[in-house]
Amino acid sequence: MKEPQQLETRYGKQIKVHTLGVRAQEKLSLASCAIIGMGALGSAIADQLVRAGIGYLRIIDRDFVELSNLHRQTLYDEQDAEQFMPKAIAAAHKLRRINSTVNIDPVIADVHAANIEQLLDEVDIIIDGSDNFTVRYLINDYSVAHRKPWIYGAVVGTSGSSATFIPSLTPCFCCLFPEPPELGAVDTCDTAGVIGPIVQMIASIQATEALKLASGQQEHCNKQLIQLDSWTMQLMKLEIAQAQQATCACCGQGNYQWLKQPEEFSSTSLCGRETIQLTLAKPLSMTLEQLQEHFSRAYEVKVNRYLLKVKFSDQINVIFFPDNRIMIQGTEDVDYAATLTKKLVEI
Ligand SMILES: [Zn+2]
Repeated sequence: MKEPQQLETRYGKQIKVHTLGVRAQEKLSLASCAIIGMGALGSAIADQLVRAGIGYLRIIDRDFVELSNLHRQTLYDEQDAEQFMPKAIAAAHKLRRINSTVNIDPVIADVHAANIEQLLDEVDIIIDGSDNFTVRYLINDYSVAHRKPWIYGAVVGTSGSSATFIPSLTPCFCCLFPEPPELGAVDTCDTAGVIGPIVQMIASIQATEALKLASGQQEHCNKQLIQLDSWTMQLMKLEIAQAQQATCACCGQGNYQWLKQPEEFSSTSLCGRETIQLTLAKPLSMTLEQLQEHFSRAYEVKVNRYLLKVKFSDQINVIFFPDNRIMIQGTEDVDYAATLTKKLVEI
């Protein structure tokens, strides 16, 4: 049953907050926002924005719900995992029951250079729920090129970080991190795990930033890199150097290299073998030995001089070859193979 439409009735306690008010709530109800990645951060942010009364929310995700998601991805349940529900669809179903007045637009897609404009051109605010450096550089290029703000967030272990990037008002993500980290140089949720509470803490910071932007208060946004450890309760705020901006390839020089990336790989189905082969457009940055060290922290790994075999699950093996080829055994689904490969090597 729909609740009364009057903003005062539904959002009275929120409107009472001195930084908001009826005018801000009206702006919120007209704002459009996209969340890229509906995993732990994305689902927690979506929950908050939908309850707060954002006007339009596009939720984009390439993955489906698994049992191992449920300890931290709060929009999903066991039934979603049993049914292999795409996260975008499962999330939309829950979010519409939370607030039927919000226009929720689920998209099952992998965001890449060829589709990012189509996916984001209709929205004003972009929120990162990706936990993936490649996607963040792509979002950043798009943000600077199209002068739209985006809100970065990342979590691993017990800690997380966030920053808000507003073209012409702040430095950009590329000013902060000019180069992506080497594979294995930073911990991920696969290698170091993650606890639910830090997800909610960082998601809450991102959602608050989105409320500021959506209610027309960008001057109050966080312009620093925030790093928070939920276990030690250490909070650090780091200035993002303006001085680097002139030399920044993205916001300083307008070289949007991530928007110009070629196709990441070509794929072949190996007939009768339940195997997909992907040929990468550019080589992985690590040797087989380095990959072995990286993956052996989370998976059963076998290696010889010709290949590296990672046992991803009882059904799926992923095999890396030194000549930029990756085979995914146990599936004939190219999209699944591509998604899994991206998840493993962040290409
Ligand atoms: Zn920059």
